[in-house]
This record gives sequence, C-alpha cells and structure tokens, in this order.
Amino acid sequence: MALARPVVLGNWKMNGLRADGLALAGALADKAAKLSGTLGVFPPATLLGAVARRLEGSGILVGGQDCHERASGAHTGSISAAMLKDAGAQAVILGHSERRHGLGETDALVAAKALAALDAGLRIVVCVGETEQEWLDGRTLERLDTQLRGSIPAGVDADRLIVAYEPVWAIGTGRTPGVDEIEAAHRHLRDRLAGLVTDGQTVPLLYGGSVKSGNASDILAQRSVDGALVGGASLDAREFWAIYQAGGGA
Ligand code: PEP
Repeated sequence: MALARPVVLGNWKMNGLRADGLALAGALADKAAKLSGTLGVFPPATLLGAVARRLEGSGILVGGQDCHERASGAHTGSISAAMLKDAGAQAVILGHSERRHGLGETDALVAAKALAALDAGLRIVVCVGETEQEWLDGRTLERLDTQLRGSIPAGVDADRLIVAYEPVWAIGTGRTPGVDEIEAAHRHLRDRLAGLVTDGQTVPLLYGGSVKSGNASDILAQRSVDGALVGGASLDAREFWAIYQAGGGA
C-alpha cells in the first residue's frame, strides 16, 4: 500500500536501552492518535520486539536498521530479514552511509540485502548520498545514479521501496545542502527511478542529514521531498513530532 505523506522516519542508530526505547515509543504513541501521514521508528535490534509491541495499533511503522543478505546460516552476530519481521518489523533501512563508509558495504551488497528483505516481506528504505568531496567536485548526481542503479534490485514493487537522499557530509554534522540543491537531487532521483522501477515516480523520496525542527519546514516544503529520515533529532519525541508536523503531518 502507498504510504501517506509526509513520510518521517527516525533512525535511532545505536542508542537506547529498553527503558529509553519504551519511553520514546510511548511518548510518540501518545501524540499519534490518528496519523494523517506516515511516522516510523527504527530502533536498535535489541529493542525491536519491545518497541513493536508497545506501538502495536498506533499506526507508527517499526523497522530494523540493517539485515543480512542471507536468510539463515553461520553468520555470527548478524540478523536476517525474516528475524526482523518476526520481531515486529515492517521495514528495514539499507545502505546507510554509516554502513557504506564505516563498514565498507558496496552497492552490490546493499542490493543483495534488499532482495532478502523483500523476500521476507519487508519494505526497504535504501539510502544514497555523496561524500563531501564528491559534492565539492559537483559529482553529486553522478554518485546518486551509480548508487541507485547498483543498490535497487530489478523488478522491485514501487510500494515496497523508499529512497532516502542522505549526503554523507550532512549526517550528524549540523550542515545541510541548500534547499535548491536538495530539490534538484530529489528531482533527479525521481526521474531516474521512473526509468528503473515500474511506477518509480510514486516512490517516497526522503531527505536525511541534520534535519531538525528548525530547518524541517523549509526542507519538507520542497516539491520533490516527500519526507525525512531523521537521526539524532528522532531521539527526542517532541523534536521528532515537530519535524513530522513541519511536513504537514498531524
Ligand atoms: C541518519 O543517520 O540517517 C541521519 C540523517 O542522521 P542525522 O539526522 O543525525 O544527521
């Protein structure tokens, strides 16, 4: 099913023990009486089951932050897509820059994980974005093309795909591209997705990288921006909710 806009997703990264995660989930559930858009949280794997149970019936989407490309086997420390689903996840983030650049994940690996996640019945949130040097060199769109082509499996159903444009240099830094640059990157992605995926122009395109309540209205007002993938600011329920509202969500 197509997701209602705005689509605002919170990546909790490696933050929170059980009490913190449940408190944050509870605070969001209290605000989200009847969601007009899509709100989602991506807790650490250890909290997934508890948070999914806490948010049951709230309409808030819950997802994992990564999965293994295989369905099962001798992969110590890894988590399969089916395990995420079994714990209550409806979606999974793939290709986050902290995994691409921090852990050396390639486009091909992201595509293999995407296939595994789709097989398990999850939606996929595929992250793409240029490094600061690529941005300075004016190679942003070229980089996005390569990552998009390499990371998205052929034949993916547009309703199961979300793409997040996350410039690597904007994540957790307090810096963002200008809104015109964000709009241009999203328009480019929309255009390329139309050629890669059937009904690709309907895929939600999220901006991610230092989104806060203070800059969210300007970013989310851009025509081709359907929502946001939020890191640090998603750990504060009031701030996260304010971002969702800035995008027109109620
Ligand atoms: C992210 O990690 O996906 C992210 C966008 O982080 P932040 O909002 O903290 O920049």
